[in-house]
Amino acid sequence: MTDTAELAAIREAVRALCADFPGEYWRGLDRERAYPDKFVAALTKAGFLAALIPEEYGGSGLTMTAAAAIMEEIQASGCNGAACHAQMYTMGTLLRHGSAAQKARYLPAIARGELRLQAFGVTEPTSGTDTLSLRTTASRDGDDYIINGQKIWTSRAGHSDLMLLLARTTPRDQVKARTAGLSVFLVDMRAVKGKGLTIRPIRTMMNHATTEVFFENMRVPADGLIGNEGEGFRYILSGMNAERILIAAECIGDAKWFIDKATGYARERVVFGRPIGQNQGVQFPIARAYMGMRAAELMVRQAAALYEAGQDCGAEANMAKQLSAEASWAAADMCVQTHGGFGFAEEFDIERKFRETRLYTVAPISTNLVLSYIAEHVLGLPRSY
Ligand SMILES: Cc1cc2nc3c(=O)[nH]c(=O)nc-3n(C[C@H](O)[C@H](O)[C@H](O)COP(=O)(O)OP(=O)(O)OC[C@H]3O[C@@H](n4cnc5c(N)ncnc54)[C@H](O)[C@@H]3O)c2cc1C
Repeated sequence: MTDTAELAAIREAVRALCADFPGEYWRGLDRERAYPDKFVAALTKAGFLAALIPEEYGGSGLTMTAAAAIMEEIQASGCNGAACHAQMYTMGTLLRHGSAAQKARYLPAIARGELRLQAFGVTEPTSGTDTLSLRTTASRDGDDYIINGQKIWTSRAGHSDLMLLLARTTPRDQVKARTAGLSVFLVDMRAVKGKGLTIRPIRTMMNHATTEVFFENMRVPADGLIGNEGEGFRYILSGMNAERILIAAECIGDAKWFIDKATGYARERVVFGRPIGQNQGVQFPIARAYMGMRAAELMVRQAAALYEAGQDCGAEANMAKQLSAEASWAAADMCVQTHGGFGFAEEFDIERKFRETRLYTVAPISTNLVLSYIAEHVLGLPRSY
């Protein structure tokens, strides 16, 4: 499968930008668990984070295939798009379900880089993957909603102006359909920080700027409600396919980076008087990782093509995310093994990328939940939860 000239040019431009952010830049941030402000600013300035925002709102109006290529190239260059990938897909909920006034107010400013929409508050500590059991509530009070509750793993909340927040507006025992009663809010965090909103960073095994967020009688204007009250679960689900495709593309980029590093090292490293890559015991794991990556890449491309054609891509987006996350993790493990002891040395960046890519069989959706989606929705097996 070959890229069009336009796609090839986008890939080249991303690579050129990423060349200014080499391993030592990421190593320094990793040590401090610091946010890559300069990298995110450069991506924003170049317009890459506004790839999916339509041109009428000042974005580039690119396809999902192009957006996926951007994320893939970031990772394949050794950089980390996790610092900002949500900016691309979170705005999809606003774009598809927001009012004309909301879109006109926020999208152009997001496209210009003046407003950051990086935070996506869905997961909660008590309910986990069982989103419909979430406990954060939003109750109407005149022209406002009052929000109480807690989110966890709300990545980039400390580096974002806006948060897309899922909260319960009708108690669970009062809704007719099990998926009803949740609503989505676009929260301007600048207005409520310290006034009902508290953000606490969580230190993780990789540099991810994730947080837990507490809402205590947080008052937000009712005009921040996206779409209709009670239909938020559906809005969030539609955005999740975009999230899965883009993260799958990142995993493909990671896998390419690991394979490239391993191949280069296997050619150069001489042990017992010959390059280690001359031994089939070293070649075969690299070849296997490459095949796994290429197969997953096909699924990512198919999922992206279905998404941009407006067709149902739930199964393909899930499979793409799962297969790519497995391919990147297998490639990471292979890359460490190929490098022997040097795979553990900070200056090779492999141990950092290894920690970073481990996330994706857990988030944004964990392996078992993808498997149960395929079992139930594709294979027609009985619902298990
Ligand atoms: C670094 C990081 C960043 C994140 N960023 C965000 C973010 O920005 N916004 C956000 O909303 N969330 C975010 N998440 C949350 C992420 O989406 C969840 O961690 C993930 O979906 C898994 O949910 P959980 O951690 O609650 O696990 P749980 O739901 O508690 O599940 C734990 C384990 O049990 C398995 N399991 C649960 N139920 C079943 C079942 N019925 N059958 C079989 N297996 C089952 C799961 O597969 C998993 O392996 C992030 C997480 C991390 C770690």
